Amino acid sequence: ELYNKVLELKGNIRVFCRCRPLNSEEIAAGASLAIDFESAKDGELTVISNGAPKKTFRFDAVFGPHAEQADVFQDTAPFATSVLDGYNVCIFAYGQTGTGKTFTMEGTKEARGVNFRTLEELFRVINERQKLYRYEISVSALEVYNEQIRDLLVSGSQQSTMAKRLEIRQVGEGMHHVPGLVEAHVNNMNEVWEVLQTGSNARAVGSTNANEHSSRSHCIHCVMVKGENLLNGECTKSKLWLVDLAGSERVAKTDVLGERLKETQNINRSLSALGDVISALATKSSHIPFRNSKLTHLLQDSLGGDSKALMFVQISPNENDLGETLCSLNFASRVR
Ligand code: ADP
Ligand code: MG
Repeated sequence: ELYNKVLELKGNIRVFCRCRPLNSEEIAAGASLAIDFESAKDGELTVISNGAPKKTFRFDAVFGPHAEQADVFQDTAPFATSVLDGYNVCIFAYGQTGTGKTFTMEGTKEARGVNFRTLEELFRVINERQKLYRYEISVSALEVYNEQIRDLLVSGSQQSTMAKRLEIRQVGEGMHHVPGLVEAHVNNMNEVWEVLQTGSNARAVGSTNANEHSSRSHCIHCVMVKGENLLNGECTKSKLWLVDLAGSERVAKTDVLGERLKETQNINRSLSALGDVISALATKSSHIPFRNSKLTHLLQDSLGGDSKALMFVQISPNENDLGETLCSLNFASRVR
């Protein structure tokens, strides 16, 4: 009842669907449910409209409104070990604003999300392996807003004096890099979390409406891992990307002018570029259109090849959100 999943997993892309609970306002307003979890089989979820089943979707796992952060993490934890084994890993949260992307990734102090738990697991395994491997960990925190990269580990005042914009450069075969981006060395969970909190706080600075800003930019944490096998001297380099994507909602009719229009076009461009890249990878297409957005260009080395990706598609259970819910579920079915 809490969640169901399909154990057999194929390919390098996993899609987990998570539905938030109705909130108190929705309950007070007598909102109807648009999702049926009960009658669905493992990994399935059925959208209902006017009391009748409308469409059934299938994912690697489905987490209902009662699933706890720990339940969600149980299926996410193996990705931390993968990073330490030398794989590049990307974990995304996709969905309409207000569906729980930040709750799933960041979580709260009382209910830690994927970011915290994955890092905790990373350091737990590092500790467990200390006789066999030595690891060096560093982190970056950035956001992509209006197709521009902003370093969240550089304070606002320093940022405005930075002469050059941050750009993505190719520094070798399959190696992309953002020169100038801060990479903070960290030795333990406390250090890494402190750095990432600084990044989260910086996100709000300089925007009149912090919530609105965060729903319109992609928030990205990158954990860089250098590993050395102490027995044979073999070295690995890998990256873990933790991405809280901009809201996927379509533009409101009232918002089609000026700055807001440009913002929306940029969000749509990068989210559809991400969808295109992942579905091209899934179908083993010969051309993968990484260059179509900053987001996919940035993640290029960590999507495809031996990389592993996990996409959380976040949805609302409220019938009023059915249109956006169907868009998100269709998007997620396309990348799977
Ligand atoms: P988003 O980042 O997608 O805009 P948020 O993560 O900010 O959405 O979630 C919106 C609200 O719903 C927040 O108050 C959050 O705490 C709550 N929420 C989301 N998902 C859950 C969940 N699974 N259980 C409890 N509360 C949730
Ligand atoms: Mg959010």
